[in-house]
Amino acid sequence: MSGGDMAKPLLGHRSMEGDPSIMPAAGRTIGVLGSGDFARSLAIRLVCSGFKVVVGSRNPKRKAGLFPSAAEVTFQADAVKKTDVIFVAVFREHYSTLCDLADVLVGKILVDVSNNTEVNHHKESNAEYLASLFPACTVVKGFNVVSAWTLQSGARDGNKQVLICSNNQEAKRTVAEIAQVMGFTPVDMGCMSSACEIENIPLRLLPAWKIPIFLALGLFLCFFTYNLIRQVIHPYIREQKNKLYKIPIEVVNTTLPCVAYVMLSLVYLPGVLAACSQLYYGTKYRRFPDWLDQWLQHRKQIGLLSFFCAALHAVYSLCLPMRRSHRYQLIETAVKQAVEKKMNIWVEEEVWRMEIYISVGIIALGLLSLLAITSLPSIANSLNWREFSFIQSTLGFIALVISTLHTLTYGWSRAFDENQYKFYLPPTYTLTLLVPCTVILAKVIFSLPCIQQRLLRIRRGWEKGRYVKFVLPSAMGEYSSGETSSNV
Ligand code: NAP
Repeated sequence: MSGGDMAKPLLGHRSMEGDPSIMPAAGRTIGVLGSGDFARSLAIRLVCSGFKVVVGSRNPKRKAGLFPSAAEVTFQADAVKKTDVIFVAVFREHYSTLCDLADVLVGKILVDVSNNTEVNHHKESNAEYLASLFPACTVVKGFNVVSAWTLQSGARDGNKQVLICSNNQEAKRTVAEIAQVMGFTPVDMGCMSSACEIENIPLRLLPAWKIPIFLALGLFLCFFTYNLIRQVIHPYIREQKNKLYKIPIEVVNTTLPCVAYVMLSLVYLPGVLAACSQLYYGTKYRRFPDWLDQWLQHRKQIGLLSFFCAALHAVYSLCLPMRRSHRYQLIETAVKQAVEKKMNIWVEEEVWRMEIYISVGIIALGLLSLLAITSLPSIANSLNWREFSFIQSTLGFIALVISTLHTLTYGWSRAFDENQYKFYLPPTYTLTLLVPCTVILAKVIFSLPCIQQRLLRIRRGWEKGRYVKFVLPSAMGEYSSGETSSNV
């Protein structure tokens, strides 16, 4: 499970934290236009951070009581005159009502904090729209990704990043400086054209999880239907037995491990496909197809969902003996044995099989928990690359092997029992083995020295049929360069 779900800006853009050119600016006066939730939280946070705050409202008398006493609440025009940096805490649809202030706003920095209600709601971003209304001002987009709650509770709690963009470097620097003094981490997102992207961020609902969740739901639906046919519909049609009571727990509990197991193998399958592609093309510099790239990037989420299903399976399994249906079945079996005068029903093979498959299942769940915990950014950041890859790759693969043992000891000889083929459908566990066994087999093949060596060379930059530059020491002790085929 690789990382990759961290906020995109951290990876792709320059964090302004620790920039020596950014000096603390506490003490300067900051203006806030608007007196709503965001304006109030902003004012509280600014006052707490040592800034002087002047709030511009259409109705200052009525709103003054809502703000800390240290903040001055006055008319909009009056507030704007007293400061150079103004947070516009007003919705986009009301920007035009601020046009009366155009004269007093000349030369000021306007911070657009607004969000939309839909992704790409308007053709131009709110910040660009504000800039078009006030061409004599410098507009900076920022603070929209933090909520009023985060502002009030302080930067210790909640999202610490403040994404900032503007076409004016100086204005951006000033706003970054303010964000830093307020305890946030300013992240430079570049010029104003990024505003649209910044405005879309708070509207996205777990973007990295969409594909893995649909995958898990799809697998769940398929296995659930398959198990329903085998466990409920088949006995009803063939023996007129009503087994509907099995749906909430038994069918779900036979479906969850299938999803968990297949999802775990899907974490390692793209790595196998990537290695196949590298071996086939003899290079690591060829781009993977988009679908494989996407798949590789979602391994962490797929792994976490696998762990989630496995954990649910464990809880469901623990609850199995608590059910009334289970108690009835136990009593029924006991009565039948008493009637048939059977004294010893101990089946050594069954006992051992169950002991082993439960034990192996617990170990697999333990390993999955370890993988899940170490994929949390706070833990992953405390590991070096070797430790992280050992846990995620090596232990993860061991978890897959142990899960396979768990599945095999659970299924045992059922695959060879014709009574288990309901409507000619094989037992579910045989289907789940398909992808994981392919992955395990591929990993075993890749560990053969001849293939492993080739793969290692490719991953260090060697390319099939390509000429590489090498350095030859000349007779005079100088170095000259030549070219040769590295195809050896
Ligand atoms: P709000 O509670 O509705 O406040 C909006 C304020 O705009 C009003 O209190 C009003 O103050 C002022 N305003 C100025 N002209 C107006 C007009 N013509 N009609 C109505 N109001 C007018 O909204 P909010 O939650 O503070 O949000 C303000 C901005 O911050 C929005 O753009 C929002 O997207 C953004 N934002 C909010 C949050 C959040 O957590 N709430 C988070 C991120 C970004 P006066 O009556 O005193 O003039």
